[in-house]
Amino acid sequence: MNYVIVGSGVAGIAAIEAIRSIDAVGEVTLVGDDPYGFYSRPGLAYYLTGELHDKALFPRSAEDLRKLNFRYVRGKVSNISRAEHLLELNDQSTVSYDRLLIAVGAQAMPLDVPGAELEGVLKLDHMSDAKLILKQARRGKTAVVVGGGITALELVEGLLSRGMKVHYLLRGDRYWSNVLDEQESRIVEHRLGEEGVTLHYHAEIMALNGLNGSVDGVRLQNGQTLKCNLVAYAIGIRPRLELAKKSDLAIDRGILVNEYLQTNDPHIYAAGDVAQVLDPMSGRSILDSLWAPARQQGHTAGLNMAGRTTGYIKSPPFNVTRLAGLTTTIIGTVGRGRDDDLVGIARGDSETWRQLPDSMVAQTGFEVNRLRLLVGEKNLLGAIVMGDQNLSFPLEKIISENMDISPIREKLLLPAAKVSDLISEFWARAQQQR
Ligand SMILES: Cc1cc2nc3c(=O)[nH]c(=O)nc-3n(C[C@H](O)[C@H](O)[C@H](O)COP(=O)(O)OP(=O)(O)OC[C@H]3O[C@@H](n4cnc5c(N)ncnc54)[C@H](O)[C@@H]3O)c2cc1C
Repeated sequence: MNYVIVGSGVAGIAAIEAIRSIDAVGEVTLVGDDPYGFYSRPGLAYYLTGELHDKALFPRSAEDLRKLNFRYVRGKVSNISRAEHLLELNDQSTVSYDRLLIAVGAQAMPLDVPGAELEGVLKLDHMSDAKLILKQARRGKTAVVVGGGITALELVEGLLSRGMKVHYLLRGDRYWSNVLDEQESRIVEHRLGEEGVTLHYHAEIMALNGLNGSVDGVRLQNGQTLKCNLVAYAIGIRPRLELAKKSDLAIDRGILVNEYLQTNDPHIYAAGDVAQVLDPMSGRSILDSLWAPARQQGHTAGLNMAGRTTGYIKSPPFNVTRLAGLTTTIIGTVGRGRDDDLVGIARGDSETWRQLPDSMVAQTGFEVNRLRLLVGEKNLLGAIVMGDQNLSFPLEKIISENMDISPIREKLLLPAAKVSDLISEFWARAQQQR
C-alpha cells in the first residue's frame, strides 16, 4: 500500500504513527510545505512571550521521526488528480497514492482593508510568522492588535512582553462575547488594562497608513488615527480548501468527512483543522481548531487508511489557555451567537463552544477565580474555569462522560449555591463508586 499524507502538522504526523502501528512495510510519503516541519502551533504563543525557546516547540525528535520510516517531500501540493491517484506539486513533480490524507490545516483570514499589504502587518499561523513578529517588534514602539478569540490576546501578550505599547481594537463592546459572559469579558479587559494595554471599543479599521512601504498608522472609522509601527491581526481562520475545491471533493465550511474521516472519495481522507466532522452532541457537522482533536482525527484517519474501520467520536472540545495571563479552561458548550471581532472561528477555538441549547447557569466567584457551569436537564453541557484550575479535570470528565448530575442539579441552581463545593463532592462520590 502506498500512503500519502499532505501536511506536516499534528494531524499528519498522528496519521503516520497510526499507519505504522499497523503496517510496518507500506510506503509512506509526507508532503509538507512548512520549512520548520512539525512543531507545536499552540506553543508559538509562549515563543512570542519568550517563555519557550523555539527548540522547545518540537514534540518529536529527529530520531522519533526517522523511526517512523517515511519519505519526506518538502513542497506544496497544487493539485490532486483523483482519476490518476496523483498529486501535482508546485515544482511540477508528482507523487502517486493509493490512500491519501489531506491534513493541510487552516489559515488566517486576511485583513481586508486598504494598506493591509504594507510591511509590518502581521498574522500568526506558522513558526515563520512568529519569527517575523519577533524581528519587527521593537521595545518602546507601538503596536495595534485587531481581532478576537485566543490568538488576538496571544499577540497582545507577546508584543507587550517585547516591550511594545499595545492598542487593542474591539469592534463591539466587549471581548469574545459569544464564548465568555459579560463578567468574564470584563475580568480579561480589566487585566489587560492593568498590563498597560489601551483598549478601544467600537473600533473599526478603515485603512492602514504607510510610510516608505511600512505601516505607520491605523485610521479608524470614527476619524481617529493611531500612530503605530506594527499591526497584528487575528480575525479568524478558514480551512485550506483549495485542493478539495479543485478536485471536486465535498466541502462545506471544511472538507466534509464521515465518521471514518473519509471524504466522498473513499481513497481520500481529511483530518485536523481542514476537516468538518460530525458532532454527536449537536448532530451537526462542525469545525474545531484544536490540537487534541486534530491529533485524534489524524490517528483515526491513519488507522482507517491502513485497513481498520474505526469511528471517530468527537468529544466535547476542551482547551486550557491563558487570557490576559489568567489560566482559563473552556469545556463543551458555553456560549452562543456571533462575535463581531471574528470571522468564523479562531485558533484554539471550536464551533461547538457556541451551540448552546436551552440551559441554566450556575456560577461562582466574580474576581480572579471564576467558575461558570452550563446546566442541562440531567447533565452539564459546558464549563468555563478561570483562575484556580482544581476543578477543570473533574469537570472535563463530568461533561465528556455525560455524567448524570441530577443529585446536585437543584442545589447547583440555587442563588447562593456553593458551586465549587458541590462539584468537588459530586466528583469525590463518583470516584468512590467506580
Ligand atoms: C498561534 C496559535 C495558537 C493556537 N492555540 C491553540 C490552543 O491554545 N489550543 C489548541 O488546542 N489549539 C491551538 N491552536 C490550534 C492548533 O495548533 C491546530 O488546531 C492544529 O495545529 C491543527 O493541526 P493540523 O495538522 O490540522 O494543521 P496544521 O498544524 O495547520 O498543519 C498543516 C500543515 O499543512 C501545510 N500545508 C498547507 N497546505 C499545503 C499544501 N498544499 N501542500 C503541502 N503542505 C501544505 C501547512 O503549511 C502546515 O504545515 C493554535 C494555533 C496557532 C497557530
